[in-house]
Amino acid sequence: MSNHLHLDRRGTLGLAALGLSAMAYGAAPAGAAVPTRARQRSDSALTVTLLGTGSPVPSIERMGNSTLVQAGGYNLVFDGGRGLPIRLVQAGLHCGQIDGIFLTHYHSDHVNGVADAWMMGYVPALGARTKALDLYGPTGVHRLAAGLRLAHADDIRVRVADKEVNPAAAALESHESQVNDAVVFNRDGVVVRMFEVDHDKADAITPAVGYRVDYRGHSVLISGDTRPCENVIKWGRSVDLLIHEVADFLDPTDPVIQGVYEHHTSPQQAGKIFDATRPQMAAYSHIVAGIPPRFPEVPIATLVDRTRENYGGALTVGEDLLTFTIDNSGIDVVRATG
Ligand SMILES: [Zn+2]
Ligand SMILES: [Zn+2]
Repeated sequence: MSNHLHLDRRGTLGLAALGLSAMAYGAAPAGAAVPTRARQRSDSALTVTLLGTGSPVPSIERMGNSTLVQAGGYNLVFDGGRGLPIRLVQAGLHCGQIDGIFLTHYHSDHVNGVADAWMMGYVPALGARTKALDLYGPTGVHRLAAGLRLAHADDIRVRVADKEVNPAAAALESHESQVNDAVVFNRDGVVVRMFEVDHDKADAITPAVGYRVDYRGHSVLISGDTRPCENVIKWGRSVDLLIHEVADFLDPTDPVIQGVYEHHTSPQQAGKIFDATRPQMAAYSHIVAGIPPRFPEVPIATLVDRTRENYGGALTVGEDLLTFTIDNSGIDVVRATG
């Protein structure tokens, strides 16, 4: 079963106004007038699927952070957290169909699904890729790729010896870029731009970047892990879909929690960013809403209320496998049940 929703470009009716901000927690309230239509994806559409909306916290509901952007025939994956191959298959693709993985930084929760996606792509029965997997990122991606090749050399060796795998398909090609607003991918009208973000006050976690994808006048921004950051506002201005990380706790005074806030963005702060950028749709992913059992779960309604202190526009609290289709008539949001 899918739940099709449509946000008209001219309209002001957001998911939140329909009572659907807390998408993981129920369908539309009884009697809500939810515009519904099934639509063919046009060639100019930009489609974004939240594969994993989670954080380092192990969770079956929220896999590690990962976002699929489909445009111009390309399947581009942004971050490769825990469970990437599982969610990709649920989204209707296999690992051999990934045209590139773009990393925001090298915290393990953003890369620990990469090896799995790479290897499941070169196993013919599962992925059937015939050439190298392209891995993009800021400084450090060459080192990561070298480490992955080393760690899994024996998998490739035995599969090649067993005549199961073509060595060319098992290659991993890394593309390392400077983070100063660099265009890192530009093919057939699909443009991916990388920009620096601010993951921590002391600049210990560098590099850390976000990405913006543009295709035929449509756009999505993925913040990566960041505190409130001017570059997100700069590149997020009037973007169609702005996907931002968020962290929130019921007791913000706990010293451990203070440390988390110093590395991430609170819903109140995110609300200010959404208000400044005015996207057609704002969405949360990389959602840290409590860390049970030590820090109780923050209700989604609380997360929304705290965002609403500073922002009145369309808002979606992400969930795994939620898909946004962006074209000239607006944004469709499809809630897949996997
Ligand atoms: Zn993270
Ligand atoms: Zn991080």
